[in-house]
Amino acid sequence: MDARIDSQTALLARIDAARDDLVALTRDLIAFPTLNPPGEAYLDICEYLERRFSGRGFAVEKVRAKDAPGDSDRYPRWNVIARREGNAPGQCVHFNSHIDVVEVGRGWTKDPFGGAVEDGKIYGRGSCDMKGGLAASIIAVEAFLDTHPDFAGAIEISGTADEETGGYGGVAYLAEHGYFSPERVQHVIIPEPLNKDRICLGHRGVWWAEIETHGRIAHGSMPFLGDCAVRHMGAVVAEMERSLFPALANKRTDMPVVPEGARQSTMNINSLHGGQTERPKDYTGFPAAVVPDSARMIIDRRYLIEESADEVRGEIVAILEKLKVEREKFTYDLRELWQVSPTMTAKDSPVVTATARAIETVLKKQPDYVVSPGTYDQKHIDRIGRMHNCIAYGPGILDLAHQPDEYVGINDMIDSAKVMALSLRDLLSPAD
Ligand SMILES: [Zn+2]
Repeated sequence: MDARIDSQTALLARIDAARDDLVALTRDLIAFPTLNPPGEAYLDICEYLERRFSGRGFAVEKVRAKDAPGDSDRYPRWNVIARREGNAPGQCVHFNSHIDVVEVGRGWTKDPFGGAVEDGKIYGRGSCDMKGGLAASIIAVEAFLDTHPDFAGAIEISGTADEETGGYGGVAYLAEHGYFSPERVQHVIIPEPLNKDRICLGHRGVWWAEIETHGRIAHGSMPFLGDCAVRHMGAVVAEMERSLFPALANKRTDMPVVPEGARQSTMNINSLHGGQTERPKDYTGFPAAVVPDSARMIIDRRYLIEESADEVRGEIVAILEKLKVEREKFTYDLRELWQVSPTMTAKDSPVVTATARAIETVLKKQPDYVVSPGTYDQKHIDRIGRMHNCIAYGPGILDLAHQPDEYVGINDMIDSAKVMALSLRDLLSPAD
């Protein structure tokens, strides 16, 4: 037991000693302008990571998601996956971070790729979401390798593309090619910025669809000779307001979604178009007088683990069928665009309990368990990879993601590197 305490102390001390290395690594990662879209500098950052991982005895692969959405010779979708085997067979723990960042946007007072260090914070686009998490996981793994060279099992670290645009050129592609499968990987930690004392178990589901109402074109001065598709769509919106939105607000979930407002079913009307398309800016004339024969609405429905995609679809179909009975000449099309099932890793699964114990040791408090209102790469690991032992855990304040003057706290990175290292030790070296 004393030896176990000694090795824990050595591991944590090794991370404290790596502070300057952690800062330099984070600044290096921020300096790659991996903007997505369009997907800049992916190969450069993958080659940088490859050099670092190779130097620590990892077998490294770079994988291009050839022909995935967004992939082109000008903007190839590169990913890097490193694996290091232990001294004996055992389970594999995988740390997955996305390498892409969102556009810079306005309002910055710092250089978005400069990595300025001030008052214990590192500034830059992607510092919080999620190059700080990637750097912390690398330092955690390296400290573990230094202090526990005889571990059993395997460790993987990946830097993947395109999370900010759906992950199809990143984790989805890798999962389709066997990199995330229960045979290869048993535990996944995604160091997204969820605050260092929170464990994110999963996310709500998504159902996107397009509704189209039909009409008949006629002269605008004699609308009674046609049939206005926009009025039909107005009836759809009215029925949603009357019956659907109140019903959604009443569907509460046991999922610990944050923020609190998302602890229910929600639906966003993403867009609504009817009649003639908007005039080009350089056209100075009038629109023509016609009755619109088509109106289209895109809806973005977020659903709960207590609901199914069939129920969600059924609610919309019920509204449309009701209007078909009530309104003369009402016809519609319903096209499903995208669906992601909700997922929530069990609180008693090994990766969750190991991370919870590590948070108690490092931060001297119980973790908070949360679920994300929107999806992230866990969706692909869950659905394509059939891997249900996955969490998001990492440094950084979630609210800073995608904001101007985004930063990550150095102490937060140190603390979460310690949590990740202790989780790794718990999962791979439970006895020594
Ligand atoms: Zn992210």
